[in-house]
Amino acid sequence: MNGRRLCFDFNATTPIHADVLEAMTPYFCEMWGNPSSSHVFGREVRSGIETARAHTAALIGALPEEIFFVHSGTEGNNLAIKGLAHASPKSRNQIIISKIEHSSVYAACMSLKKVGFEIHELPVDKFGSVSPSSLAEVISPRTALLSVMLANNEIGTLQPISAMAEIANRYHVPFHCDAIQAAGKVPFSVNELGIDILTISSHKIYGPKGIAALYVRNGLNLSPLHHGGSQERGMQPGTENVPAIIGMGKACEISLCHMNYNIRHLKKLRNRLERKLFIELPAAEINGHPREHLPNTMNICIPGIPNDTIMTRLDQQGISLSTGSACSSSPGVPSRILQACGRSIIDALCSIRISFGLHNTDEEIDTLVRVLSEIVSCEQGEKNLYC
Ligand SMILES: *Cc1c(COP(=O)(O)O)cnc(C)c1O
Repeated sequence: MNGRRLCFDFNATTPIHADVLEAMTPYFCEMWGNPSSSHVFGREVRSGIETARAHTAALIGALPEEIFFVHSGTEGNNLAIKGLAHASPKSRNQIIISKIEHSSVYAACMSLKKVGFEIHELPVDKFGSVSPSSLAEVISPRTALLSVMLANNEIGTLQPISAMAEIANRYHVPFHCDAIQAAGKVPFSVNELGIDILTISSHKIYGPKGIAALYVRNGLNLSPLHHGGSQERGMQPGTENVPAIIGMGKACEISLCHMNYNIRHLKKLRNRLERKLFIELPAAEINGHPREHLPNTMNICIPGIPNDTIMTRLDQQGISLSTGSACSSSPGVPSRILQACGRSIIDALCSIRISFGLHNTDEEIDTLVRVLSEIVSCEQGEKNLYC
């Protein structure tokens, strides 16, 4: 080990791109105006925000006026779910989500359950895929909204969003998609997907933390969560976090520009990992879909070896990764997502998530596999360096 720490936890967050920081910097000092001011200090900042909005829209194929900046992916998901639920007619009180949604969608729905909404969770198969036919079976004129994520943050599985959008459309049910983990790693556009409202978050795409965007299709009826000024056309009142918005716009611009290159790099790393694991750690079983998955995510179960042991040992060797979502994973708690895929509690507790970033290298993958297989053979009782 060369003393440098290795990180394979880029689904939790990413470091800020140097160009993003550079774009943000003037907005802390020289360009300090309030974008709502009509004088020149305000106007120059307003124009920076509108440029950021255009870049954010371009990443997902939306119109700039369909983009609303919010303070996090979590807030965006809450605004989408609660905003749609509260705007829906009284006769529609059923909400449909998948069993493997992020905690920000799941918990928002649980809070709506307390005020009388009925929550239906679509099951997933062993790969974590939702079947559009299971949606067709439960959707009805009583359905207020549908929310299914594009890519799962723990196992990387991609969902058949456009097939589900067609079904939702037939019943005039607004369709929300959490695309936070997919953005920058899978090319998509809101129109191709056919969804009505979609969330992306800046800190997952090499932008600053604490800023995100909600795409809201023109004409969609959405109630705001907060009330106050007319910022973000009343959808997110309160003075804007200007440097963060500027940073998110830059991150989206860079992400779109380099997407094909980035995807190729991530795929190459993932293929290398899969190949090496197959040879050096044949006991490892891959969780998630064998083909329809994010290029940077691999979730593996190493039967019989608890994930907190693996994480502690890797940490001692300078390697950081996690057992699952940063928002809900804690040691000793089996993943809700893996259980929904039919994994036993024991296997879920023996699973780890490896998620790469743009700066990971082939050598780092080789180091990870080597250290992992040494830890596993040590745990299985064969004494070596790491015991
Ligand atoms: C990270 C993440 C979120 C939460 O976004 P924040 O900006 O961290 O609040 C929601 N959904 C998915 C799929 C995520 O990966």
